[in-house]
Amino acid sequence: MTPTNPPPPAGPPAAPSNFIRDIILRDLESNKFAGRVQTRFPPEPNGYLHIGHAKSICLNFGLAAEFGGKTNLRFDDTNPEKEEQEYVDSIIDNVHWLGFDWEDRVFFASDYFEQIYQWALELIRKGKAYVCDLTAEEVRKYRGTLTEPGKESPYRNRTVEENLDLFQRMRAGEFPDGSRTLRARVDMASPNLNMRDPVMYRILHAEHHRTGNAWPIYPMYDYAHGQSDSIEQITHSICTLEFEDHRPLYDWFVEQLGIFHPQQIEFDRLNLTYTMLSKRKLLQLVQDKLVRGWDDPRMPTLSGIRRRGYTPEAIRNFCGSIGVSKTNGIIELGLLEHFVREDLNKRAPRMMAVLRPLRVVIDNYPEATDAVDELDAVNNPEDASAGTRKVPFSRVLYIEQDDFKEDPPKGYYRLSPGKEVRLRWGYLITCVSVVKDEQGNVVEIHCTYDPATRGGNAPDGRKVKSTIHWVSAAHAVDAEVRLYETLFTKENPNAVEEGQDFTANINPNSLEVLTNCKLEPSLAAVEPFGRVQFERLGYFCADPDSAPGRPVFNRTVALRDSWAKIEKRADNPAKAKV
Ligand code: ATP
Ligand code: MG
Repeated sequence: MTPTNPPPPAGPPAAPSNFIRDIILRDLESNKFAGRVQTRFPPEPNGYLHIGHAKSICLNFGLAAEFGGKTNLRFDDTNPEKEEQEYVDSIIDNVHWLGFDWEDRVFFASDYFEQIYQWALELIRKGKAYVCDLTAEEVRKYRGTLTEPGKESPYRNRTVEENLDLFQRMRAGEFPDGSRTLRARVDMASPNLNMRDPVMYRILHAEHHRTGNAWPIYPMYDYAHGQSDSIEQITHSICTLEFEDHRPLYDWFVEQLGIFHPQQIEFDRLNLTYTMLSKRKLLQLVQDKLVRGWDDPRMPTLSGIRRRGYTPEAIRNFCGSIGVSKTNGIIELGLLEHFVREDLNKRAPRMMAVLRPLRVVIDNYPEATDAVDELDAVNNPEDASAGTRKVPFSRVLYIEQDDFKEDPPKGYYRLSPGKEVRLRWGYLITCVSVVKDEQGNVVEIHCTYDPATRGGNAPDGRKVKSTIHWVSAAHAVDAEVRLYETLFTKENPNAVEEGQDFTANINPNSLEVLTNCKLEPSLAAVEPFGRVQFERLGYFCADPDSAPGRPVFNRTVALRDSWAKIEKRADNPAKAKV
């Protein structure tokens, strides 16, 4: 195999048309919101953000910026049992890292609890909400199904006075958890189950990460979300398709209350092959220690892929290329990796590292320990401004075990007895003998070098078929390198046999740790999160586990870009259904 760099990426597929942009354009034309565009990104702080959230972030911030609008960051924190400050902090950090800024507009649904409560009282006064004493189980039963209408609660016709009294006492903390709810009085016969008197408030004596013990009742997401949007005067409330059936309810609340009416627009969730994008299941992976944490480089979380070495630019380009649609599909992981390579190809300096070292002695090179040849190496052929560096060459080197074969199969052009190869930036060397251990394993090889070939070319014009990377043993930096495969073995990790859960699809080989790697000396200085290309091996990122003198690198992605192939295979490159 000739060690060439990957071919230049084919470039992003043309971005599909964006129907959300079209809606905004229409609204601007008709002056629907007085020319305003105000969006928000509304995570629930119950886990770390993942690549699916990045799609939503890019969309919300991207569209607002395009039309001179603003985007709020709002935490939908209505579920105290699952929410934590750690998640709030990580979300703030991740959205900033992705490159977006909400200025001073970070909000919390919990800041609106009082207003939302006042509005609930107003709905009661209007006969549009009632306190219901059915248990959760009974509420479910009364709700009916898609084919059967629901049954009205026996508490549905309580008087306004009784409802006000009971709801205020719920708020005062008089009743135990789960004993009562406040429900919207909409329509138990509606074909839309969300409209069958949905619960607005539940009793829950739980401490909230921001409001402490101030509230023994909490609004349901479906009641709080739309009102929070309204308070913030969100013009375009962009969310994922599963909320399409909830839109009539959100519209109903703001209409009953006569408050600002945001326009909800739904788009398809991002799904990626071999990738789990559910916070609940990602939490399970963390809690059950199936990964090293939320920021494990195998995780699809923004913290994980950042540690893996993905760049914000690559993620933004990816999100821009996949567009939005009205049907859920699944995107090939290879497309995301393509954007990572495309970005790193331009910016990551290329260095040499040997992951599985084989000792090479250059017999005709001087033995003196200070006999060193400082060779010139180009840092990035894609970027002249990256300059050059010196790489030390000496009598003992390491090469990759793979790059030597005692009995080369046909077509193997790397090193073997009697064969000559080029050392990257260095000399042509020829293998003259082999040293084996008692088991017959090759532990060292001996070569000669041709001093006339400094820089890699023979003055007599003779050719070699292969160029390999190497590191000088005396100058090498010892390192640990972590190689990754996908965390799941199935394209759809949720597809399981009966009786199994998604963890049955975890790839037992998703992490390989190599502890005896040898790096060229310039790599000693790479800071955590620094990204480099190890020639012929892929893109790598220095891990925060690195210690002084002992770097740890994660492989971000291998060099070969399979996307070109995928593009040929699928009619629509961005959305290959699997
Ligand atoms: P999960 O299902 O992973 O728990 P979620 O929808 O409950 O996700 P939220 O914190 O509510 O997580 O998400 C915040 C925003 O991000 C929402 O507007 C949601 O629609 C959007 N979002 C979440 N997952 C995806 C995804 N896979 N693709 C696109 N947008 C997403
Ligand atoms: Mg959600």
